[in-house]
Amino acid sequence: MALRKIITLENEILRKVSKPVVNFDESLWNLLDDMKDTLLKSTGVGLAAPQVAVLKRIFVLNLNNMYIEAINPKITKVSGCQKGPEGCLSIPGRQHNVVRPNKVTVEFFDRYGNPMSITAVDFMARAICHETDHLDGVLYIDHIEKNK
Ligand SMILES: [Zn+2]
Repeated sequence: MALRKIITLENEILRKVSKPVVNFDESLWNLLDDMKDTLLKSTGVGLAAPQVAVLKRIFVLNLNNMYIEAINPKITKVSGCQKGPEGCLSIPGRQHNVVRPNKVTVEFFDRYGNPMSITAVDFMARAICHETDHLDGVLYIDHIEKNK
């Protein structure tokens, strides 16, 4: 286990589309362990693999006394609307209001390849949207422009 460097806005890797995970093997588990260390050492609640310069469809969340590892996540249902402040470990020192769905269902795989599903509301729904966006090269600041 080790800390990974979190890349920031000016790094073009953050703008790339990540590839699905195919092998649920030791190299994936090492990456997940590193992402956990890196997230828990940070001030954030979520971390996506592209933020540690790995273009794979993975995010981790540490929120509401729950630690979640989501591999190949797909948001399958959204409803409602919320507006609230959002920040990003890759854009340090900044926060902006972003409009997001108030409730989302996300389907994903755990580290062993078991299919999972979570339905979340409020801030957790926001975090899931934010992290899933990272896997498509989208940053929360992109939504600010759209909201105008
Ligand atoms: Zn972020």
